[in-house]
Amino acid sequence: MDAFSSRVVRLLSSLLILLFSAVSVHSQQLSDAPEIPSNFTLDMQTAARLRPELFAQSVPAADSHAVGRLVFERLLAQLPQSSAAKSSGPKFLWQLRIVEDGELNAYASPDGTVLVESGLAQLAGPSTGLWAAILSHEITHVVRRDWARRYLYQRSLESAGATIVMGDPGLPSASWADSEKLSADMGRFCRQLEIEADREGLMLMAHAGYHPDFMPALHHLLHAQNSAVPAKSLYAMHPCWEERDRELSRAYLEATLEFERLWPAWYASPGGNPPIVVFAEQPTLKKTGSQWELQIPMRCQNLAGAVEVVVRSGSLQDGSSPLDAADPPDPPSAKSRDRQLPSELRQLTGCTSPHTTVTFELDDAHRRSKSGAEWTDIYVLDAWGAVLARADVPRHPR
Ligand SMILES: [Zn+2]
Repeated sequence: MDAFSSRVVRLLSSLLILLFSAVSVHSQQLSDAPEIPSNFTLDMQTAARLRPELFAQSVPAADSHAVGRLVFERLLAQLPQSSAAKSSGPKFLWQLRIVEDGELNAYASPDGTVLVESGLAQLAGPSTGLWAAILSHEITHVVRRDWARRYLYQRSLESAGATIVMGDPGLPSASWADSEKLSADMGRFCRQLEIEADREGLMLMAHAGYHPDFMPALHHLLHAQNSAVPAKSLYAMHPCWEERDRELSRAYLEATLEFERLWPAWYASPGGNPPIVVFAEQPTLKKTGSQWELQIPMRCQNLAGAVEVVVRSGSLQDGSSPLDAADPPDPPSAKSRDRQLPSELRQLTGCTSPHTTVTFELDDAHRRSKSGAEWTDIYVLDAWGAVLARADVPRHPR
């Protein structure tokens, strides 16, 4: 199928799904979100109090991060006038800043200061689309005043007698990540806020000219990174990537249709052509005789050419994951392909079907070597060796 007809087919199937799902679109609003009273200003007061501290810990987005600032400004230009400081509502002091700590988070202060940690900024690199995926989400949090919603919801739970220890409701500080201290209700509410921010962020991206596929591309990149440092990221508080992909499928379709309407020539949009997105499903491991069969179902978007699936092993001691180690292995790269490691198996696939399955035959020696090495991770790489997706090898066969 040529690129045009495959686009038409995709558009038509998107339309069909939309027709079937249109009825329930509006039932997905936050049902238990308290209204923000018109005289509520605690969020802005808190932001003003913390502003000097946040500024001291960060630098303006310039130099190698100037591309982020450009995208930031383009996204802001799409906000309705009511959010752009002229309304009776809060006045946002939009600014993009970088926290040079190498971490992978982004967060926003209620006054419109958006902070991106340098690890995440580096991950986005020169890709305007990935920057748009990060920033549209944070801008949406600010415009929706999610800090205030979260604060008010917490207060309503407390007045109902629940005990929640969250510390200073200052900002997205450590308390945001401390999910253990949150009640189940609070956790659910915060995840709901995240999904909503993704959903509205997708539409903001589409309007500003960034293909919505950059959002799952970012999620999958972070998922691949998170394997090494699962608990360090603030995104731990966020719903898991699989859950986000699932919850957002309808929002993707809506935003994609809007993008295609506004930007018929994708390559000429501010974000350029959409990225390759690989949705790797949960792999299965089966034993047949002395052979193990590892099956990895996957689906690819915007792929012309092939992707490479890599299964790699790690050393398991005392049942702990090799990724718990202090010095976790890096994801595979083009470099490791040149000197094929014995602990890696590789396979190319064109991933042309929405039900592509890649199968690896592993014998017992492969499955678990004397040294305790076990196949633990599955990566999908693009033609340049960059990681597109990651999945875990199941621990138990079925
Ligand atoms: Zn968020």
